[in-house]
Amino acid sequence: MTAVHTQLLIIGAGPAGYTAAVYAARANLKPTLVTGLQPGGQLTITTDVENYPGFADAIQGPWLMEQMRIQAENMGTNIIYDYVSNVDFSKQPFTCYGESNTFTADSVIIATGAEAKWLNISSEETFKGFGVSACATCDGFFFKNKPVAVIGGGNSAVEEALYLSNIASSVTLVHRRDSLRAEKVLQDRLFANPKINIIWNHEIDEILGTTTPKAVTGIRLKSTLSPETTQNIEVEGIFIAIGHSPKTEMFKGHIDLDSAGYIITPKGETTTNIPGVFAAGDVQDKIYRQAVTAAGQGCMAALDAEKFLTINN
Ligand code: NAP
Repeated sequence: MTAVHTQLLIIGAGPAGYTAAVYAARANLKPTLVTGLQPGGQLTITTDVENYPGFADAIQGPWLMEQMRIQAENMGTNIIYDYVSNVDFSKQPFTCYGESNTFTADSVIIATGAEAKWLNISSEETFKGFGVSACATCDGFFFKNKPVAVIGGGNSAVEEALYLSNIASSVTLVHRRDSLRAEKVLQDRLFANPKINIIWNHEIDEILGTTTPKAVTGIRLKSTLSPETTQNIEVEGIFIAIGHSPKTEMFKGHIDLDSAGYIITPKGETTTNIPGVFAAGDVQDKIYRQAVTAAGQGCMAALDAEKFLTINN
Protein backbone atom coordinates (compact mmCIF):
# COMPACT_ATOMS: atom_id res chain seq x y z
CA MET A 1 0.00 0.00 0.00
CA THR A 2 1.50 3.35 -1.06
CA ALA A 3 0.76 6.55 0.91
CA VAL A 4 0.01 9.55 -1.31
CA HIS A 5 -0.56 13.03 0.12
CA THR A 6 -2.00 15.77 -2.04
CA GLN A 7 -3.53 19.21 -1.48
CA LEU A 8 -6.46 18.27 -3.69
CA LEU A 9 -7.69 14.76 -4.48
CA ILE A 10 -10.15 14.36 -7.35
CA ILE A 11 -12.04 11.07 -7.40
CA GLY A 12 -13.38 10.18 -10.84
CA ALA A 13 -12.24 10.46 -14.45
CA GLY A 14 -15.28 11.67 -16.38
CA PRO A 15 -15.85 15.21 -17.74
CA ALA A 16 -16.36 16.58 -14.19
CA GLY A 17 -13.16 15.05 -12.77
CA TYR A 18 -10.93 15.94 -15.72
CA THR A 19 -12.24 19.51 -15.93
CA ALA A 20 -11.71 19.97 -12.18
CA ALA A 21 -8.16 18.66 -12.72
CA VAL A 22 -7.43 21.12 -15.54
CA TYR A 23 -8.60 24.10 -13.47
CA ALA A 24 -6.88 22.93 -10.28
CA ALA A 25 -3.61 22.19 -12.05
CA ARG A 26 -3.65 25.63 -13.73
CA ALA A 27 -4.16 27.13 -10.25
CA ASN A 28 -0.96 25.31 -9.22
CA LEU A 29 -2.74 23.03 -6.73
CA LYS A 30 -0.88 19.98 -8.13
CA PRO A 31 -3.99 17.78 -7.94
CA THR A 32 -4.02 14.01 -7.84
CA LEU A 33 -6.85 12.35 -9.78
CA VAL A 34 -7.88 8.75 -9.03
CA THR A 35 -9.55 7.27 -12.10
CA GLY A 36 -11.84 4.55 -10.73
CA LEU A 37 -12.67 1.39 -12.65
CA GLN A 38 -13.88 3.08 -15.83
CA PRO A 39 -11.44 5.86 -16.73
CA GLY A 40 -13.26 8.29 -19.00
CA GLY A 41 -16.63 7.42 -17.47
CA GLN A 42 -19.88 6.92 -19.36
CA LEU A 43 -18.65 8.69 -22.51
CA THR A 44 -16.26 5.80 -23.13
CA ILE A 45 -19.28 3.58 -23.84
CA THR A 46 -20.94 5.96 -26.30
CA THR A 47 -20.10 6.60 -29.93
CA ASP A 48 -21.20 9.84 -31.65
CA VAL A 49 -21.28 12.96 -29.48
CA GLU A 50 -23.06 15.79 -31.30
CA ASN A 51 -23.79 18.14 -28.42
CA TYR A 52 -20.41 18.88 -26.84
CA PRO A 53 -19.66 22.49 -27.81
CA GLY A 54 -16.68 23.34 -29.96
CA PHE A 55 -16.93 20.53 -32.50
CA ALA A 56 -18.79 21.23 -35.74
CA ASP A 57 -19.09 17.53 -36.60
CA ALA A 58 -19.87 14.56 -34.38
CA ILE A 59 -16.94 13.34 -32.32
CA GLN A 60 -16.41 9.99 -30.61
CA GLY A 61 -16.99 9.75 -26.84
CA PRO A 62 -13.82 7.73 -26.10
CA TRP A 63 -11.75 10.19 -28.16
CA LEU A 64 -13.18 13.17 -26.24
CA MET A 65 -12.32 11.56 -22.91
CA GLU A 66 -8.81 10.72 -24.09
CA GLN A 67 -8.31 14.39 -25.03
CA MET A 68 -9.55 15.46 -21.59
CA ARG A 69 -7.15 13.03 -19.90
CA ILE A 70 -4.18 14.28 -21.95
CA GLN A 71 -5.13 17.91 -21.26
CA ALA A 72 -5.38 17.27 -17.49
CA GLU A 73 -2.05 15.43 -17.50
CA ASN A 74 -0.31 18.10 -19.61
CA MET A 75 -1.42 20.75 -17.13
CA GLY A 76 0.29 18.83 -14.32
CA THR A 77 -2.31 16.48 -12.85
CA ASN A 78 -0.97 13.34 -11.21
CA ILE A 79 -3.30 10.63 -12.59
CA ILE A 80 -3.41 7.38 -10.62
CA TYR A 81 -5.24 4.27 -11.81
CA ASP A 82 -6.88 3.03 -8.62
CA TYR A 83 -10.35 2.61 -7.12
CA VAL A 84 -11.39 4.40 -3.91
CA SER A 85 -13.55 1.96 -1.91
CA ASN A 86 -13.73 3.70 1.48
CA VAL A 87 -13.15 7.15 2.96
CA ASP A 88 -12.72 8.92 6.28
CA PHE A 89 -13.98 12.51 6.12
CA SER A 90 -14.24 12.86 9.91
CA LYS A 91 -10.93 14.70 10.30
CA GLN A 92 -8.30 16.65 8.34
CA PRO A 93 -6.47 15.57 6.29
CA PHE A 94 -9.24 13.52 4.67
CA THR A 95 -8.32 9.89 3.97
CA CYS A 96 -9.45 7.93 0.91
CA TYR A 97 -8.61 4.24 0.72
CA GLY A 98 -7.77 2.86 -2.72
CA GLU A 99 -6.96 -0.74 -3.66
CA SER A 100 -3.21 0.03 -3.93
CA ASN A 101 -2.85 3.49 -2.34
CA THR A 102 -3.99 5.36 0.74
CA PHE A 103 -4.63 8.97 -0.21
CA THR A 104 -4.62 11.84 2.26
CA ALA A 105 -5.82 15.23 1.09
CA ASP A 106 -6.62 18.71 2.40
CA SER A 107 -9.56 18.92 0.02
CA VAL A 108 -11.48 16.38 -2.07
CA ILE A 109 -13.64 16.68 -5.20
CA ILE A 110 -15.98 13.74 -5.71
CA ALA A 111 -16.78 13.19 -9.39
CA THR A 112 -17.51 9.46 -9.45
CA GLY A 113 -20.50 9.78 -11.80
CA ALA A 114 -23.34 7.35 -12.27
CA GLU A 115 -23.95 3.91 -13.76
CA ALA A 116 -26.73 2.12 -15.58
CA LYS A 117 -29.69 0.78 -13.58
CA TRP A 118 -30.94 -2.79 -13.92
CA LEU A 119 -34.43 -4.25 -13.56
CA ASN A 120 -33.22 -6.61 -10.81
CA ILE A 121 -35.17 -9.68 -11.85
CA SER A 122 -33.51 -13.09 -11.67
CA SER A 123 -33.70 -13.90 -15.39
CA GLU A 124 -31.92 -10.61 -16.13
CA GLU A 125 -29.05 -11.75 -13.90
CA THR A 126 -29.02 -15.18 -15.59
CA PHE A 127 -28.62 -13.73 -19.07
CA LYS A 128 -26.38 -10.70 -18.35
CA GLY A 129 -23.58 -10.95 -20.88
CA PHE A 130 -25.50 -13.69 -22.76
CA GLY A 131 -28.03 -11.47 -24.52
CA VAL A 132 -28.83 -8.94 -21.79
CA SER A 133 -26.84 -5.70 -21.82
CA ALA A 134 -27.06 -2.10 -20.61
CA CYS A 135 -24.89 -0.69 -23.37
CA ALA A 136 -25.83 -0.86 -27.04
CA THR A 137 -22.60 0.71 -28.21
CA CYS A 138 -20.60 -1.89 -26.29
CA ASP A 139 -22.60 -4.99 -27.20
CA GLY A 140 -24.79 -4.07 -30.20
CA PHE A 141 -22.22 -5.54 -32.56
CA PHE A 142 -23.04 -9.07 -31.27
CA PHE A 143 -26.61 -8.74 -32.58
CA LYS A 144 -25.90 -8.04 -36.24
CA ASN A 145 -29.03 -8.89 -38.27
CA LYS A 146 -30.78 -10.27 -35.18
CA PRO A 147 -33.98 -8.99 -33.51
CA VAL A 148 -33.43 -7.01 -30.32
CA ALA A 149 -35.48 -5.09 -27.75
CA VAL A 150 -34.72 -1.91 -25.80
CA ILE A 151 -36.44 -1.25 -22.48
CA GLY A 152 -37.14 2.34 -21.35
CA GLY A 153 -38.59 5.61 -22.58
CA GLY A 154 -35.89 8.23 -21.89
CA ASN A 155 -33.09 9.67 -24.04
CA SER A 156 -30.87 6.66 -23.40
CA ALA A 157 -33.50 4.16 -24.55
CA VAL A 158 -34.27 6.11 -27.72
CA GLU A 159 -30.60 6.66 -28.54
CA GLU A 160 -29.90 2.96 -28.01
CA ALA A 161 -32.84 1.98 -30.23
CA LEU A 162 -31.66 4.31 -33.01
CA TYR A 163 -28.10 3.05 -32.71
CA LEU A 164 -29.22 -0.60 -32.79
CA SER A 165 -31.45 0.00 -35.82
CA ASN A 166 -28.23 0.25 -37.88
CA ILE A 167 -27.09 -3.18 -36.73
CA ALA A 168 -30.01 -5.40 -35.73
CA SER A 169 -32.65 -6.87 -38.07
CA SER A 170 -35.39 -5.17 -36.03
CA VAL A 171 -35.70 -3.19 -32.80
CA THR A 172 -38.65 -3.30 -30.43
CA LEU A 173 -38.79 -0.48 -27.90
CA VAL A 174 -40.79 -1.50 -24.83
CA HIS A 175 -42.02 1.29 -22.59
CA ARG A 176 -44.14 1.06 -19.46
CA ARG A 177 -46.26 4.14 -20.30
CA ASP A 178 -47.87 5.53 -23.47
CA SER A 179 -45.50 8.47 -23.99
CA LEU A 180 -41.74 8.91 -24.01
CA ARG A 181 -39.73 11.27 -21.85
CA ALA A 182 -36.95 11.50 -24.47
CA GLU A 183 -36.26 14.83 -26.22
CA LYS A 184 -38.58 15.69 -29.12
CA VAL A 185 -35.81 15.54 -31.75
CA LEU A 186 -34.95 11.99 -30.70
CA GLN A 187 -38.62 10.95 -30.62
CA ASP A 188 -39.08 12.27 -34.18
CA ARG A 189 -36.11 10.18 -35.38
CA LEU A 190 -37.47 7.13 -33.55
CA PHE A 191 -41.00 7.37 -34.97
CA ALA A 192 -39.61 7.87 -38.49
CA ASN A 193 -37.40 4.78 -38.33
CA PRO A 194 -39.02 1.85 -40.16
CA LYS A 195 -36.91 -0.74 -38.33
CA ILE A 196 -38.20 0.30 -34.90
CA ASN A 197 -41.47 -0.94 -33.47
CA ILE A 198 -42.83 0.36 -30.14
CA ILE A 199 -44.81 -1.61 -27.58
CA TRP A 200 -46.47 0.82 -25.19
CA ASN A 201 -47.74 0.16 -21.66
CA HIS A 202 -45.69 -2.99 -21.12
CA GLU A 203 -42.81 -4.09 -18.94
CA ILE A 204 -40.67 -7.21 -18.71
CA ASP A 205 -42.22 -10.08 -16.79
CA GLU A 206 -39.50 -12.61 -17.62
CA ILE A 207 -36.55 -12.96 -19.96
CA LEU A 208 -36.79 -16.22 -21.87
CA GLY A 209 -33.85 -18.26 -23.05
CA THR A 210 -31.96 -21.51 -23.28
CA THR A 211 -29.40 -22.83 -20.80
CA THR A 212 -27.17 -24.79 -23.20
CA PRO A 213 -25.98 -22.73 -24.87
CA LYS A 214 -26.91 -19.85 -22.56
CA ALA A 215 -28.81 -17.47 -24.86
CA VAL A 216 -31.85 -15.20 -24.92
CA THR A 217 -34.73 -16.26 -27.14
CA GLY A 218 -37.39 -13.78 -26.14
CA ILE A 219 -39.25 -11.79 -23.51
CA ARG A 220 -42.55 -12.34 -21.75
CA LEU A 221 -44.08 -8.89 -21.43
CA LYS A 222 -46.88 -7.94 -19.12
CA SER A 223 -49.26 -5.09 -19.61
CA THR A 224 -48.97 -2.24 -17.11
CA LEU A 225 -52.69 -1.54 -17.62
CA SER A 226 -53.85 -5.11 -16.90
CA PRO A 227 -50.97 -7.12 -15.39
CA GLU A 228 -52.67 -10.48 -16.03
CA THR A 229 -52.30 -9.82 -19.80
CA THR A 230 -48.99 -11.08 -21.16
CA GLN A 231 -47.44 -11.48 -24.59
CA ASN A 232 -44.21 -13.06 -25.79
CA ILE A 233 -41.87 -11.45 -28.30
CA GLU A 234 -38.91 -13.16 -29.96
CA VAL A 235 -35.62 -11.31 -29.57
CA GLU A 236 -32.01 -12.40 -29.16
CA GLY A 237 -30.71 -9.26 -27.45
CA ILE A 238 -32.23 -7.10 -24.70
CA PHE A 239 -30.87 -3.66 -23.88
CA ILE A 240 -31.94 -2.23 -20.53
CA ALA A 241 -31.97 1.60 -20.68
CA ILE A 242 -33.98 2.63 -17.64
CA GLY A 243 -31.79 5.32 -16.14
CA HIS A 244 -28.77 5.61 -13.92
CA SER A 245 -27.73 5.45 -10.25
CA PRO A 246 -24.99 7.58 -8.71
CA LYS A 247 -21.77 5.82 -7.70
CA THR A 248 -21.77 6.70 -4.02
CA GLU A 249 -21.60 3.30 -2.26
CA MET A 250 -18.21 4.16 -0.75
CA PHE A 251 -19.45 7.47 0.66
CA LYS A 252 -22.52 6.12 2.52
CA GLY A 253 -22.37 7.23 6.16
CA HIS A 254 -19.48 9.64 5.41
CA ILE A 255 -21.31 12.42 3.54
CA ASP A 256 -24.96 13.45 3.19
CA LEU A 257 -26.78 11.60 0.39
CA ASP A 258 -30.40 11.98 -0.69
CA SER A 259 -32.87 9.08 -0.77
CA ALA A 260 -31.73 8.09 -4.30
CA GLY A 261 -28.07 8.09 -3.23
CA TYR A 262 -27.02 11.38 -4.86
CA ILE A 263 -24.60 13.60 -2.91
CA ILE A 264 -26.49 16.60 -1.61
CA THR A 265 -25.21 19.96 -2.83
CA PRO A 266 -27.10 23.27 -2.59
CA LYS A 267 -28.60 24.37 -5.93
CA GLY A 268 -25.90 25.91 -8.12
CA GLU A 269 -23.08 24.96 -5.73
CA THR A 270 -20.61 22.11 -5.36
CA THR A 271 -20.27 22.26 -1.56
CA THR A 272 -21.34 19.28 0.55
CA ASN A 273 -22.05 18.98 4.29
CA ILE A 274 -18.30 18.41 4.84
CA PRO A 275 -16.29 21.65 4.49
CA GLY A 276 -13.47 20.93 2.03
CA VAL A 277 -15.28 18.10 0.24
CA PHE A 278 -16.95 19.11 -3.03
CA ALA A 279 -19.06 17.15 -5.53
CA ALA A 280 -19.47 17.67 -9.29
CA GLY A 281 -21.17 15.94 -12.22
CA ASP A 282 -23.66 13.07 -12.27
CA VAL A 283 -22.86 12.01 -8.70
CA GLN A 284 -24.82 15.06 -7.49
CA ASP A 285 -26.94 15.96 -10.52
CA LYS A 286 -30.11 14.08 -11.34
CA ILE A 287 -31.55 16.76 -13.60
CA TYR A 288 -29.12 17.73 -16.37
CA ARG A 289 -26.57 14.86 -16.48
CA GLN A 290 -24.79 16.08 -19.61
CA ALA A 291 -21.09 15.92 -20.38
CA VAL A 292 -21.02 19.70 -20.72
CA THR A 293 -22.87 20.35 -17.44
CA ALA A 294 -20.62 17.85 -15.65
CA ALA A 295 -17.57 19.66 -17.08
CA GLY A 296 -18.99 23.00 -15.90
CA GLN A 297 -19.58 21.63 -12.41
CA GLY A 298 -16.02 20.23 -12.38
CA CYS A 299 -14.75 23.74 -13.09
CA MET A 300 -16.93 25.14 -10.27
CA ALA A 301 -15.67 22.49 -7.81
CA ALA A 302 -12.03 23.29 -8.62
CA LEU A 303 -12.63 27.02 -8.06
CA ASP A 304 -14.43 26.24 -4.77
CA ALA A 305 -11.62 23.91 -3.65
CA GLU A 306 -9.02 26.54 -4.51
CA LYS A 307 -10.86 29.12 -2.39
CA PHE A 308 -11.20 26.63 0.48
CA LEU A 309 -7.48 25.80 0.40
CA THR A 310 -6.50 29.47 0.27
CA ILE A 311 -8.60 30.28 3.34
CA ASN A 312 -7.70 27.18 5.34
CA ASN A 313 -3.96 26.70 4.63
P1 NAP B 1 -34.34 8.62 -17.64
O1 NAP B 1 -34.52 9.89 -18.39
O2 NAP B 1 -34.46 8.58 -16.17
O3 NAP B 1 -35.35 7.57 -18.29
C1 NAP B 1 -35.50 6.28 -17.77
C2 NAP B 1 -36.63 5.60 -18.51
O4 NAP B 1 -36.71 4.26 -18.07
C3 NAP B 1 -37.97 6.25 -18.28
O5 NAP B 1 -38.71 6.28 -19.47
C4 NAP B 1 -38.61 5.34 -17.24
O6 NAP B 1 -40.01 5.23 -17.38
C5 NAP B 1 -38.03 3.99 -17.59
N1 NAP B 1 -37.91 3.13 -16.42
C6 NAP B 1 -37.33 3.41 -15.21
N2 NAP B 1 -37.38 2.34 -14.40
C7 NAP B 1 -38.00 1.36 -15.09
C8 NAP B 1 -38.34 0.02 -14.80
N3 NAP B 1 -38.03 -0.54 -13.62
N4 NAP B 1 -38.98 -0.70 -15.74
C9 NAP B 1 -39.27 -0.14 -16.94
N5 NAP B 1 -38.97 1.11 -17.29
C10 NAP B 1 -38.34 1.85 -16.38
O7 NAP B 1 -32.89 7.96 -17.93
P2 NAP B 1 -31.93 8.09 -19.20
O8 NAP B 1 -32.65 7.90 -20.47
O9 NAP B 1 -30.78 7.20 -18.89
O10 NAP B 1 -31.44 9.60 -19.12
C11 NAP B 1 -30.84 10.06 -17.92
C12 NAP B 1 -30.43 11.52 -18.11
O11 NAP B 1 -29.37 11.59 -19.06
C13 NAP B 1 -31.53 12.42 -18.63
O12 NAP B 1 -31.42 13.67 -18.00
C14 NAP B 1 -31.25 12.53 -20.09
O13 NAP B 1 -31.71 13.74 -20.66
C15 NAP B 1 -29.73 12.46 -20.10
N6 NAP B 1 -29.26 11.91 -21.39
C16 NAP B 1 -29.01 12.80 -22.37
C17 NAP B 1 -28.59 12.36 -23.60
C18 NAP B 1 -28.33 13.39 -24.68
O14 NAP B 1 -28.44 14.58 -24.43
N7 NAP B 1 -27.97 13.02 -25.89
C19 NAP B 1 -28.44 11.00 -23.85
C20 NAP B 1 -28.73 10.08 -22.83
C21 NAP B 1 -29.15 10.57 -21.60
P3 NAP B 1 -40.99 6.50 -17.07
O15 NAP B 1 -40.83 7.42 -18.22
O16 NAP B 1 -42.31 5.85 -16.95
O17 NAP B 1 -40.47 7.05 -15.77
